[in-house]
Amino acid sequence: MSEFKQILVAIDGSEHAMKALETAKTLSKQLQGNLHLTVLHVNPTLSMNEPPVGIDVDERIEEEGRHILEPAADYLKDEGISYRMLAGHGDPASFICKIADQEKADLIIMGTRGQGLVSELILGSVSHHVIQHASCPVLTVK
Ligand code: ATP
Ligand code: MG
Repeated sequence: MSEFKQILVAIDGSEHAMKALETAKTLSKQLQGNLHLTVLHVNPTLSMNEPPVGIDVDERIEEEGRHILEPAADYLKDEGISYRMLAGHGDPASFICKIADQEKADLIIMGTRGQGLVSELILGSVSHHVIQHASCPVLTVK
């Protein structure tokens, strides 16, 4: 078991993801200087069958990403935390696992649920997939 040095936080703009970020912030402050956070938002790939009329796809992806990542960056800044924000697009769960591998993340922190409509399930589909496929421990926050 390696030390927790590199942590990936996945956010989708939901309250649950905000709690995941809160947890990551608390951990970072406790382990100050020894931890690096990557905060990732993945924009689900826009369907090729429904081209957004009059809107540049890349621009829209960037715009939505900013909308979610900027408040998160504001929340982390001025606390002496080492972090970077990352935006991607594609299938969120696969993308989260891929970045976790690339960054050699020791831990992924995410919400149990997200932006999806209320359901009976404890876990959303993204957290479910990440828990199944990630090669590092996953901390889900509710
Ligand atoms: P579903 O999407 O299956 O309807 P849900 O939206 O309630 O259900 P998930 O999407 O699995 O639940 O969200 C659980 C957590 O996964 C979120 O709190 C967030 O941490 C992460 N997550 C979900 N979607 C994304 C995304 N697009 N980019 C980054 N992280 C995400
Ligand atoms: Mg979701």
